[in-house]
Amino acid sequence: MEHEIYCAGCGVEIQAEDPKHVGYAPPQALEKETIICQRCFRIRHYNEASTVTLGDDDFVRILNSIGDTKSLVVQVVDIFDFNGSWLRGLHRFVGNNPILLVGNKVDLLPKNVNRNRLVNWMRKSAADLGLKPVDVILVSAHKGEGVDRLVAAMNEHRRGRDIHVVGVTNVGKSSLINRLLKQFGESELDITTSQFPGTTLDVIEIPLDERSSLYDTPGIVNRDQILHLVAPSELKLLLPDKQLKPKTYQLNDKQTLFIGGLARIDFVKGEHQPFVFYISNQLNIHRTKLEKADELYEKHLGTLLSPPGKEMAENMPKLDRFTFKVPAGNQDIVISGLGWIALHGSGANVEVRVPKGVAVSIRPSLI
Ligand code: GDP
Repeated sequence: MEHEIYCAGCGVEIQAEDPKHVGYAPPQALEKETIICQRCFRIRHYNEASTVTLGDDDFVRILNSIGDTKSLVVQVVDIFDFNGSWLRGLHRFVGNNPILLVGNKVDLLPKNVNRNRLVNWMRKSAADLGLKPVDVILVSAHKGEGVDRLVAAMNEHRRGRDIHVVGVTNVGKSSLINRLLKQFGESELDITTSQFPGTTLDVIEIPLDERSSLYDTPGIVNRDQILHLVAPSELKLLLPDKQLKPKTYQLNDKQTLFIGGLARIDFVKGEHQPFVFYISNQLNIHRTKLEKADELYEKHLGTLLSPPGKEMAENMPKLDRFTFKVPAGNQDIVISGLGWIALHGSGANVEVRVPKGVAVSIRPSLI
């Protein structure tokens, strides 16, 4: 009787005949010491993709070598954390290769947010960071929105060459690759991981045709992302999982709003006006008088003002202060990793405090 093999991941019986059937493992997988089915292989690589830290030598080596290839570079960013998802120095690494910028999590945007304005803002922000993408595409890895357009743009701009997908962790790169796999017809694809030459990092290769492949580089950890300041169990408060419901606060000047303990917004001077918050529906907003704000933060960070919870609050970096003279009209104050606050009044002096490293900026409103 033939010896049966079971998947070390899920326990299902392994078979090598039918890729569409449960338990399938491609022939090369059967030669490995630990055998897992293709499904587990994918789950393993796309849910627990290896990560490295910004400045990791191996990662820098990978990026550098992308510059030596002829390929299309696809950078995935989180539209709610544009600065936090930026791969620093990317413009230096990619050489002359074209870059396609992909803004993920578009499913979270309320209907009244103008997509074109968001794309224009991303283009401008990329230019400020030294990069001129050939195109900017908004997608939702979760819902599939925009993915057809992304595939079309990738095919147009790669012109037969390889694709390198890069991004920091938590932008949804793994979710997006999973989505692309579905789109390309998962069962026909033969996915392999290999160590990038001269490094210890795994790069995942997905063939596109006989001559070219898509390479998924490891996700890189950017310590400046606000989400690293909360415990893993609190992450779900920060990362919206549903379309945002804007919350409006009618404010007089000399009032302060806290977003948990992660951001403090002081309305210093201006006429009575609405502040509209586009942040995760699960985050608490706490209102107080400006004169009481210092004391409140001091006493209640980690409790009334959370996330971060008590434990993480102890290690919060010092707050950086950003001062804005917001012009009259429609403007957004953008807090990277949290979302933004729309002002539609007659102008306002506003101060924003966030943990050191988190970017805050202002832009014409997306509404
Ligand atoms: P990676 O670290 O870049 O590979 O990111 P993941 O694919 O692991 O996703 C990071 C987080 O973002 C997870 O909580 C995902 O559920 C979430 N996420 C990824 N893509 C989307 C999306 O299109 N929409 C929404 N709302 N969340 C997403």
